[in-house]
Amino acid sequence: MNKVFNFSAGPAMLPKQVLRQVKEELYNWNNMGISVIEISHRSKEFLQLMQEAKQDMRDLLDIPETYEVLFCHGGARAQFSAIPMNLLKKSSERVDYIKTGYWAYNAAIEAKKYCDPRIINVVGKKNGLYNIQPISKWDVSENSLYIHYCPNETIDGIAVYETPNFSDKIVVADCSSTLFSGPLNINRFGIIYATAQKNIGISGLTVIIIRKDLLKEPYRVVPSILNYKILADNFSMFNTPVTVSWYVASLMFKWLKTQGGLKEINKRNQEKSALLYNAIDSSNFYYNNISLSNRSYMNIPFFLENNKLNDLFLKESISFGLHGLKGHKVVGGMRASLYNAMTLEGVKKLIRFMKLFSEKYR
Ligand code: PMP
Repeated sequence: MNKVFNFSAGPAMLPKQVLRQVKEELYNWNNMGISVIEISHRSKEFLQLMQEAKQDMRDLLDIPETYEVLFCHGGARAQFSAIPMNLLKKSSERVDYIKTGYWAYNAAIEAKKYCDPRIINVVGKKNGLYNIQPISKWDVSENSLYIHYCPNETIDGIAVYETPNFSDKIVVADCSSTLFSGPLNINRFGIIYATAQKNIGISGLTVIIIRKDLLKEPYRVVPSILNYKILADNFSMFNTPVTVSWYVASLMFKWLKTQGGLKEINKRNQEKSALLYNAIDSSNFYYNNISLSNRSYMNIPFFLENNKLNDLFLKESISFGLHGLKGHKVVGGMRASLYNAMTLEGVKKLIRFMKLFSEKYR
């Protein structure tokens, strides 16, 4: 069969080794004669899996003891609500939402149900390219309780590579499309959250890294399954978790360790994206509209100079064995997501196709 590579933004490609392990263990996990998806989340075997997964996560990201790791339901979107609900003392409290793109803006819109977020646009455009102001220029409020931002906008393909350093406010980051793509200085953050269907496995799980001093009883009514303190007190198992997503995440963390950890995976991610950006920039047929310093290395949108060829590009790319290249509808064009599981071979195949297509239809 023609080898197929999946560039989908999420649910996204999994490493072949992980998929194979899921298949092999599906009927007989842990030599128990039953499947991991049919045993109790409270069984000692599943608890052991969880304990290890959390420890692997801590090892990979070098998470300090002063932080708790929570596994939640509801995708990153549930966190758009959970964050203001858990943190705010009253709805009049000042909170800053940095607008870098689609997801950051959507987080702010959801927060409006609970407070009056100050939405701070930091995206500009120069010579046709979008850029993000340096953090020192962000017009954050002096007295805000927290600042929410999204370091990598999955849809727009724009990224913030500086790490915020605010000692007087809680920094909350939606790291859905970058967590585990490279090392991160956890100490700079109050809450980091990431939905799993990109670099952590399959959908249904959202991981949270939260500073322990923030695990307080909320000031308002919060549904128990979104209450960080209840989740922490119950080992993230206040109700029955999405055990299959937790299981796949546990395999992903093990796989990442066998790949050499986050420094090594980051090196590969940089290499893959540099190759693709170079192919786009040198083509005269494709273009990307993000300034060099803010280009995402995880999600790479690109456009055809002649957008009438879009449908043909997608049709032929699928025949060539390249899946999931259609850009998000709000941006249009194409998008290649190069998460950890995407191999260099896959990126090279995409570049080969792009070249052949441009030669054919130039
Ligand atoms: N934030 C970001 C940065 C995302 O990429 C996504 C999903 N693509 C979300 C939030 C929403 O995640 P979910 O659909 O799991 O709620």
